[in-house]
Amino acid sequence: MEKTMLGLVKEKREPGAVLKEVPVPVIGADEVLVRVKASSICGTDVHIYNWDAWAEKTVVTPNVFGHEFAGVVEAVGSQVVNVKIGDHISAEGHIVCGYCKPCRTGNSHVCLNTRSFGITAPGCFATYATVKASNVIHNRPDMPFEIACLQDPLGNAVQTVLSGDIVGKSVAVIGSGLIGLMSIAVAKACGAGQVIAADINPYRLEMAHKMGADVLINNSVEKLSTAIFEHTGGEGAEVVLEMSGNPEAMQEGFEGAAKAARVSLLGIPVEDVSLDMGHIIFKGLRVEGITGRRMYETWYQMKGLLDRGALNLNPLVTHTFTLDRYEEAFELMRSGRCGKIIFLHESNMMNEKNRNYENYTYLTV
Ligand code: ZN
Repeated sequence: MEKTMLGLVKEKREPGAVLKEVPVPVIGADEVLVRVKASSICGTDVHIYNWDAWAEKTVVTPNVFGHEFAGVVEAVGSQVVNVKIGDHISAEGHIVCGYCKPCRTGNSHVCLNTRSFGITAPGCFATYATVKASNVIHNRPDMPFEIACLQDPLGNAVQTVLSGDIVGKSVAVIGSGLIGLMSIAVAKACGAGQVIAADINPYRLEMAHKMGADVLINNSVEKLSTAIFEHTGGEGAEVVLEMSGNPEAMQEGFEGAAKAARVSLLGIPVEDVSLDMGHIIFKGLRVEGITGRRMYETWYQMKGLLDRGALNLNPLVTHTFTLDRYEEAFELMRSGRCGKIIFLHESNMMNEKNRNYENYTYLTV
């Protein structure tokens, strides 16, 4: 095997990144080496690329970044028993210790000693990546890499939607970024009643419509809580999924919540949010924070939904690039006029006329 590979490296603690030759990673006894076939750009990668305050505080440099991927296993460590060469895989990105209290009480998604693939450990915007065998998720071999690489953010959506009752409930999804869009599809697939999607970006609202939202609210034009009450017969939303992290939108979400509603918070605010606690107390709201994916319940829920054809993610994939066009790809991400942007790691994949993931049926037997 080659000794070096191309990797997109966050080299300096400043905006930008560089595509360069880096050593092919060496696997440990409990790790596998995966040839990355497709990866996708997360909002987190944009933070890393732009180098904001969060990145300065969190990210290790120099490091190959990127954490959403799908690929094929090329080598396995000496102690690995659950993965073999040729397996199609993705992986949970949180590398956890297994011995802290959260880990030992079924809460390893908030492990005290978490390292994060592509953030504080080497990631996937490269020819090869290494992952711990225990983090491996097996993909169906017929699942297009473009779809399989979306499971990391899809897991965020699945955890958020399924962290409480959803069947028959009116749901407000605040913020129609990628995870918001996925949440719309997951909520519908899991039997939600009316799904109301909000965003300030008309392009994203159009995508929300494609993902199955029943009501679209542009909250730069309409007062969000008023619109939610109008569309729920004056009750408010029984489930509020906060995906925006925007302080004003968050306040509107609490205001638009029905009595005894669930408010699940996934969007990360970049500034302090002042909340009227009266909404929480006197409406008897259940408020919870959502981070990552439950390990590994969320992955099995997601697999069930995907394999049974309950979710169609195709409308989310709007652009594909080879890794050498990363600057264009990040520029497009910053513009907001895109859905999911996928890197295809082998240039011939761009030309394959039969990369018809749009016709992928998701159905098993
Ligand atoms: Zn732990």
